[in-house]
Amino acid sequence: MSDTPLHILQHTFGYDNFRAPQDRIIDCLCEGGDALVIMPTGGGKSLCYQIPALARDGVGVVISPLIALMQDQVSALRELGVNAGFLNSTQDWETVRETENAIRRGELDLVYIAPERLKQDRTLELLQQSPIALFAIDEAHCVAQWGHDFRSDYLKLNILHEMFPTVPRVALTATADERTRAEIIERLNLHTAEQFLSGFDRPNIQYRIQQKNKPRNQLLHFLRNEQQGNVGVIYCLSRKKVEDTAEWLAQQGFNALPYHAGLSASLREKNQTRFLREDNIIIVATIAFGMGIDKPDVRFVVHLDLPKSIEAYYQETGRAGRDGDASTALLLYGLEDIVKLRQMMEGSDGNEQFKRHEQQRLNAMLGLCEITTCRRQVLLRYFGDDLPEPCGNCDNCIDAPDTWNASEAVQMALSAVYRSDQRFGAGQIIDILRGADTEKIRQFSHNQLSTYGIGSKLSVNEWRSIFRQLIARGLLGVDHEGYGALKLTEACRPILRGEDTIQLRRDTAPLKTASIRKKVLDVAEEDMGLWNALRQCRKELAEEHGVPPYVIFHDATLKEMVEKRPLNDHELLCVSGIGDRKLEQFGEAFIEVIHEFEYQQ
Ligand code: ADP
Ligand code: ZN
Repeated sequence: MSDTPLHILQHTFGYDNFRAPQDRIIDCLCEGGDALVIMPTGGGKSLCYQIPALARDGVGVVISPLIALMQDQVSALRELGVNAGFLNSTQDWETVRETENAIRRGELDLVYIAPERLKQDRTLELLQQSPIALFAIDEAHCVAQWGHDFRSDYLKLNILHEMFPTVPRVALTATADERTRAEIIERLNLHTAEQFLSGFDRPNIQYRIQQKNKPRNQLLHFLRNEQQGNVGVIYCLSRKKVEDTAEWLAQQGFNALPYHAGLSASLREKNQTRFLREDNIIIVATIAFGMGIDKPDVRFVVHLDLPKSIEAYYQETGRAGRDGDASTALLLYGLEDIVKLRQMMEGSDGNEQFKRHEQQRLNAMLGLCEITTCRRQVLLRYFGDDLPEPCGNCDNCIDAPDTWNASEAVQMALSAVYRSDQRFGAGQIIDILRGADTEKIRQFSHNQLSTYGIGSKLSVNEWRSIFRQLIARGLLGVDHEGYGALKLTEACRPILRGEDTIQLRRDTAPLKTASIRKKVLDVAEEDMGLWNALRQCRKELAEEHGVPPYVIFHDATLKEMVEKRPLNDHELLCVSGIGDRKLEQFGEAFIEVIHEFEYQQ
């Protein structure tokens, strides 16, 4: 053993303290034990194996399925002065042989290996001839056969235990349901491993769910007022909407690129690479985008359509803010989204049980959308985590929504559905309630109904809000054929009979940006000049080194520079994320930028 873990943390990585439970995990591995680590994205899993790999003799072998990222992960380590390499199918033979030799000679601290490469005899022989510090099995949930990321090559990883019984192993994942955890332990033979479970919370992500009301304007407002120049992902349900949205954003002057399974492989790859490499790209994508995208500095994730479940929502929003910096998850949804999803699920081919299960998951998602209390509490409770106090960092916490007694309006709505024989969609029902004089109203003699015009006091938008909430709560059903006719359900009877009252959420204008800005973009207006100059400096260095900007410094490090304005090496070392090697390589360039700014003013 050479340096202590804390010394490595401070000098190589440039951080002051471990985050719990990193120190315990590192101790466990350094002492030769096995560990199972369940930690949310952005929690700091990498250090848990990187530091023991450096502290122990031999090379740390990291098994990861994320081949597209290996190059960047290794570059990031090299910038820190760590001897790192990787082995996967994208390399030529020459490079493979060099890396293998370096491993054999004990010259590498860390090597990333794809699972399909690891199981080859050639690789196993190589490892048997080499000193090994530990095995880290990243994305360990890939071993779970019922999970959605299953990789058959991961099943072979149990040979590590058989072939290298004395080498410590650590399995890591952010997927924490009990079944997956049990399967990891079973298949990787980790029965005696110490388990480290962290909660699910991603405190740096601000959750916001808004009613759709001219969604393009809402999006534009969000991007212009809060996310100028930031990296983000915008999810849409359909390929066409992805393309239209990307094109429209490009016309508005944003660096927006489309990504969906219908684009050619080369264009997808090109757009993904630009997203990974540059620091101001917005990807507009279907959910085809994201698997294995571990870009740490994604500042926002927007959903322009409703995700099907809380699991999907949590996974997709979780791609924001891996670096721990403030980030925003914005979901825009409306009446049409619910009708469409409800219809899709009713009409799907699955068996009854499957459909019921899907419905329940959608209901939980809709519940999250309509809730008027802390969103994070609901979100975490869904995963079995308890957050005792409201979070203070979701839209409902920041700006508590009003509710109103909607019993009378709801009775009107339900009887209008009933009187028109449960054959019409929300649009026509609202026309009936508001007493609209349209051709369709006359065609079906809806102006003869007793409910015609009884709801003229409320606007179309107010009625849409009511119908959306009724469907979300299951008080109205949607016909899966035709145009989504609304139907009464058992659950609505007590309200129809006047036995129950009902409170609904009052949809308000989107959050005022002023209250948000404080929380999200913590660079003050007067510091924007320096902030942009530091980013420019980072960009130039990144290009020079052929790495993405975050490999030079994370956003959080640049922000701390803006705050502390370090003007010498000593002051710079006090900034989080700057260790010995980075100081040596980049210190001067950044000090120069700050110096220029200090003396200009
Ligand atoms: P995960 O793999 O769990 O998603 P990472 O290992 O990528 O997370 O770490 C997330 C971010 O947190 C990275 O930017 C990392 O540098 C930072 N980080 C990790 N541990 C610490 C620490 N002890 N102090 C400061 N920053 C840390
Ligand atoms: Zn909250």
